[in-house]
Amino acid sequence: MFDAAALEANLAELVGSLDPTGLDPADATVLLDGLARIERLAATGVALVSTQVDSTGMWRGTGARDPLGYVAQRTGGSRARARDGLAVGQALASMPRLDAAMRAGALTIGQAADIATAVIVHPDREAELVALASHASPRKLTARCVEICAEGQGADEQHRRASAERTCVSQVGRDGVWRLSSSLPVIDGAELDAILDRFQDQIFRAARAEGRTEPFDAYRADALLAMARASVGADTGLSSPVPSGIRHTIVVTVPHTALLGDTDDGVGTEESGTIPGVGPVPVSTVARLLTEGDPVVKAVVTRGREITACATLTRSMKDDLRLAVLLRHSFECAVPDCDSQRFVELDHERPFAQGGPTSYENLRPLCFFHHDQRTHHGYELHGRPGTYRWLAPDGSVLAADRPPVAA
Ligand SMILES: [Zn+2]
Repeated sequence: MFDAAALEANLAELVGSLDPTGLDPADATVLLDGLARIERLAATGVALVSTQVDSTGMWRGTGARDPLGYVAQRTGGSRARARDGLAVGQALASMPRLDAAMRAGALTIGQAADIATAVIVHPDREAELVALASHASPRKLTARCVEICAEGQGADEQHRRASAERTCVSQVGRDGVWRLSSSLPVIDGAELDAILDRFQDQIFRAARAEGRTEPFDAYRADALLAMARASVGADTGLSSPVPSGIRHTIVVTVPHTALLGDTDDGVGTEESGTIPGVGPVPVSTVARLLTEGDPVVKAVVTRGREITACATLTRSMKDDLRLAVLLRHSFECAVPDCDSQRFVELDHERPFAQGGPTSYENLRPLCFFHHDQRTHHGYELHGRPGTYRWLAPDGSVLAADRPPVAA
């Protein structure tokens, strides 16, 4: 049996004598990387041991209610974390690539749980997802895993289940904080997000004008309250209130293959469209909303990164150009390693003031933070989609696009 005591003692000595104030930036980075890897390796070990706790029933008689309770109690973690760990530990036996990455300390339990959930449905996607996890943000990985799950399950079925199981629960916790938790089908959640975005945008801009800086999530909480107050005509506390009859749109991208009618009854109902940054929706739902003249949904039919059609009641050239530029960049900030999708603004590569055209080729989306750095602080974005480089004012490369992962 491997003796963990010596390893523990070494680590305890390192952390016990660690003085963060004495670290130079290079040492700090080395320590961060090393300790994070140790944390991931330890979590993998816990996940593997949990499977034994579960299969032997050794938790019985310990006072724990089940294996998850026992692991949570021993590790001081939550049941949710113990559940993810056990699921990952069990999945590793049949997923060799994920197993190798976890035993090398390359992935967190959260990343592995996302991958395992998708790979159980689609075993052939293991290599793609493990490779994606090595460089994509956790949010991007989750989104891809959700997409892959929807492929297997059928977007219609996913929508039907989410609809049947929709919830909204609020309660005050022991800490005296009110919390809200809700689940909705993706299309409804996207509509709520789109409306909330309008309020958050105003609140964020007002804070900025006053020189206040708080996390985006804090502004979103303010936006929720303002939205509720506005709905009953009460004072929202906003200096420039959001006008009633707010205009918001949900963009759904639909691959043209989904509309080719290669099934007997026309539209391939098992295919899914995607609300960028939110998740998959059934093409049948999008088609129904458009037929009913829903003013909110805007469907964009895509072939690769090209738009082949745009179906909506209120369309203009300006909107279409914006959509085309966003689609070209997967609806994300163009700066490499930034996957911000909220409040992106279109930046002119050649500045408008210097005669740069408002055109497909001259525009790229930047998040509020990066747009500000580029406009006011001398940062530069060079290259084209797929080969972008983000440069500091001194010309050093801060981030660069990486080649796409082969599936
Ligand atoms: Zn950004």
